[in-house]
Amino acid sequence: MKNEGSNTRISELRGIGPARAKAFADIGIETAGDAIRYLPRAYQDRGDVRTLREPGVAADGLPHSFILTVAAEPVARTVRRGMNILKFRAFDESGTAEITYFNQPYLKNTIHTGDTFRFFGKLRLEKSTLKLTSPIIERWQEDVPLRGIVPVYPLGAGLTQKIISRVVTESLALSAAEPMEYLPDAVLRENGLAAERFAIENIHNPQSPGTLASAKKRLTFDELTTIAAAISEAGRVRRTGAVPIGNADLSPLLSRLPYELTGAQARSVSEIAADMGKDAPMNRILTGDVGSGKTICAAAAIFLAVREGHQAALMVPTEILANQHFRELEPLLGGLGYRTALLTGTLTTAQKRTVLSGLANAEIDLVIGTHALLTESVVFSDLALVVTDEQHRFGVLQRAALADKAKSVHTLVMSATPIPRTLSLIAYGDLSLSRIDEMPPGRQKVDTFVVDETYRPRLLTFIQKQASEGHQTYIVCPSVEETKLPAKKKAEEDAEEMTNLSLFALPEEEQPPLKAAVTYAAELADALPDLSVAFVHGKMKSAEKDGVMRRFAAGEIDVLVSTTVIEVGVNVPSATLMIVENAERFGLSQLHQLRGRVGRGDAKSYCILVSDAKGETARRRLDTMKKTSDGFKIAEEDLAIRGPGDFLASGSEVRQSGAAALNLAATCTDPALIEAATTAARTILDSDPTLALPEHATLRERVDRLRLRSANTEN
Ligand code: ADP
Ligand code: MG
Repeated sequence: MKNEGSNTRISELRGIGPARAKAFADIGIETAGDAIRYLPRAYQDRGDVRTLREPGVAADGLPHSFILTVAAEPVARTVRRGMNILKFRAFDESGTAEITYFNQPYLKNTIHTGDTFRFFGKLRLEKSTLKLTSPIIERWQEDVPLRGIVPVYPLGAGLTQKIISRVVTESLALSAAEPMEYLPDAVLRENGLAAERFAIENIHNPQSPGTLASAKKRLTFDELTTIAAAISEAGRVRRTGAVPIGNADLSPLLSRLPYELTGAQARSVSEIAADMGKDAPMNRILTGDVGSGKTICAAAAIFLAVREGHQAALMVPTEILANQHFRELEPLLGGLGYRTALLTGTLTTAQKRTVLSGLANAEIDLVIGTHALLTESVVFSDLALVVTDEQHRFGVLQRAALADKAKSVHTLVMSATPIPRTLSLIAYGDLSLSRIDEMPPGRQKVDTFVVDETYRPRLLTFIQKQASEGHQTYIVCPSVEETKLPAKKKAEEDAEEMTNLSLFALPEEEQPPLKAAVTYAAELADALPDLSVAFVHGKMKSAEKDGVMRRFAAGEIDVLVSTTVIEVGVNVPSATLMIVENAERFGLSQLHQLRGRVGRGDAKSYCILVSDAKGETARRRLDTMKKTSDGFKIAEEDLAIRGPGDFLASGSEVRQSGAAALNLAATCTDPALIEAATTAARTILDSDPTLALPEHATLRERVDRLRLRSANTEN
């Protein structure tokens, strides 16, 4: 690769020594090409200049620009060791403000009486004095225009906005002469998309809110196309050589159940059996709302495989769930003469060895475990079926990677996330779909309430009432420990918080403080001395976690405080109350999952969402939960408000996706754009299945990068 144009290494740029080059590499920028695809996370509208005394500007809590002239020489003083304050007054035609900087004494050398600057910051009125603290400062000269819309980049350690901005600008210049466009003209025209170069330039240096919007649309489309192509391509991997399962008679299994399958379950099970009867591997997703009874469908598929002497693997995202499935399936299959083993991180080396050899020499028919099952060196004697439960927790890209590993076995994935139709195209690509759209009989609607802190005393009474009737309560908190906001280090970081162009970033609403699970469990135990309160969180040893879950299921624990570890698939029918603290922090689909933990038995169940969030979006989202229990509607609403990030990738995929992957796609709320990108990706792949044509080189490279990233992602 020649070291020129967008291949120029960042370390070649002026002022980038080894330390800075390393800092850039840490955020995924090694070349000019990486830099121009490092997207801002928000924008500051500094071009909209206000005057100090304009009504409202000091009270709206938003940062604004002011062009002010310095009234007198700044005064610097050291208030204590390590704390230096610089103060001066500056004015415009409407009034005067007092401006303060901390620990930037050198500013004294640049700011002098009579100089004019553009300041950008939040203006406050305190005791009739207007104040600006650590505003962004730029020298104002009549004939030198300043940028209006200024990008704010995600920072990495050792980097500042200034240095990133400079590297991006130089990289744009270096790559300016290169041809850049991989989408066919027709696709651009049909979807009203800007050219790629225009989009790249305007995402960094928007000429106006309008050009920024079209840049954003184009780059979102690119990300969606990349994801769609990656998933679609993975789905096209020719999967062959599965073992056909001839006998589809399920009566030996079904006759052992205390209930009849619902119509939807029966239909799904026969679709599964039909797939498994072929030598082309089954590639099916089974979706159904929480509690719709997917497990037994999986058991049916497993039974079909093991009865003919083959092995099956059931993969789940958490150990709690692995244990639960083991407790449910082991007796069921054991009664029919099949052996089930659990393979989790808690096993001792000796136990693990026994399971591994049991799998290798066909002593074990079904193994249940986390996704380490497929990534570790587990050798099967005759694996015919892999079932993945709660697949939405794995992320689609991860799923694609897993599909690669299990090319010649029947695969069934199960998910409780009802994916909106447009998204199912991109997320499930070429999977066949079975849908359980009917609940087992006798299910009750879970009554849902949204309450604030003032309700707390009544909450305690309510918990007590459930316990006195022999029922249990779940309480879910968003995090284990109190999250303290890290102390701000530099004025720049301070100013960074003040991003305001809602065109791009979701407006950040004021967030109420987090309820910490640890202290909360202790407080609760004090407040409810007669009840048994326990606490479970993700950082606990899984044996410990499982012990607590088991005692909760047995009714020995009345109140279970936890982080979201209980979200996935946990089944305790006697639990009737679900309380979610800081409910505004959760995605709607996640809340729907949590709510699905109750209402599983005969008794009336309740879900109480506790939130002090006042923001409109938060209120609207929580109201949706109150109004509907239809998972599909909830998913649509989640998509409309938060974009498809939650559906497309697991959290770690989004976080690790770095410079140019899922950032825009994850917040895209335009289903038409998602659909168009999916279609474009498929059309391109239809004409060029391996993306080998020169005009698809860019797409090829992006798809490979995305793959690489998700392959390195552990959930
Ligand atoms: P999910 O779809 O959320 O995985 P589960 O498979 O855990 O749901 O099933 C939830 C509960 O419903 C379990 O207790 C299960 O035994 C029960 N169940 C499943 N199918 C039926 C049915 N057809 N009739 C009655 N109860 C059922
Ligand atoms: Mg389940």
